[in-house]
Amino acid sequence: MKKICFCKSCNSNSLKIIAKDVFSFGFTFDIVQCEKCKLRFRNIELDLEETQKIYSDNYFLVEQKDYFFNQADFKKKVFEERMKLVQKYSQKGDLLDLGSAVGVFLEVAKNFGWNETGIEISSLASAEAKNKGLNSLNRDFKNLDQLEKIFDVITLWDVVDHSEKPLELLKEVRKIVKPNGYIFVETTVIDSLMFQGAEMLYDFSGNLIKKPFLKGYPVHHSNYYSENSLRNDIEKAGFEVKESVRETFGNQIFAGNVFSKFLFKTVEAFSKIFHKEIVCILVARAK
Ligand SMILES: [Zn+2]
Repeated sequence: MKKICFCKSCNSNSLKIIAKDVFSFGFTFDIVQCEKCKLRFRNIELDLEETQKIYSDNYFLVEQKDYFFNQADFKKKVFEERMKLVQKYSQKGDLLDLGSAVGVFLEVAKNFGWNETGIEISSLASAEAKNKGLNSLNRDFKNLDQLEKIFDVITLWDVVDHSEKPLELLKEVRKIVKPNGYIFVETTVIDSLMFQGAEMLYDFSGNLIKKPFLKGYPVHHSNYYSENSLRNDIEKAGFEVKESVRETFGNQIFAGNVFSKFLFKTVEAFSKIFHKEIVCILVARAK
């Protein structure tokens, strides 16, 4: 593990601490924000061994079991809507899904008539996709040009901020997009009612009510993007952002007791009214 002292997007050394000594899945780090470009990130960089530790089989089978396995029907519906968004911009062709997990989106893409390829770092998840007859490669995101293939569309659903160096990943992706091809980048964003409400609670309680706030900053995410800071990195990597789509999570995906489910649903309803939904998808074309 390495401490990060410069902004990962603009290299400024002017960093403000948002939360100190956050403990998540065995790691301790500070959440910092660049004073210049406002990018928020954890101030440690994990090495390969540490990354593999947090994405062990346990991640898929225990921690995120509901997300990857039990919500497949719900996820499928979400992905069918996303596929319609993809087809608003691109003719059918070669599609790469980065971080394709157990292959739910790959299956949807295939059913829509696309030539699907997935890249998944977890051998367990990748094998699950392969068993369904899907084209899933079990590898990391480095040296993507070694695939010796370029794509009409590359999708990054909830994956960009799981990379240790999201900007580098986007630059890597840029190398394998066809001229005028598109990328679709989705992540949860901190300029959302859910994050801002939890942060207000954290600040006003003198850091006593920290659980809702810290839930949004797991060690699995290296950057904690806002719509603006995500747009900055996408443009720096050589793309032009064409559209921003905001979505709520949908309560099915949220595990918790009745009260927290109610609270979650209420905040989601208000986020829609104020257009501050937690999920942001940026559509961008290669320049
Ligand atoms: Zn910066």
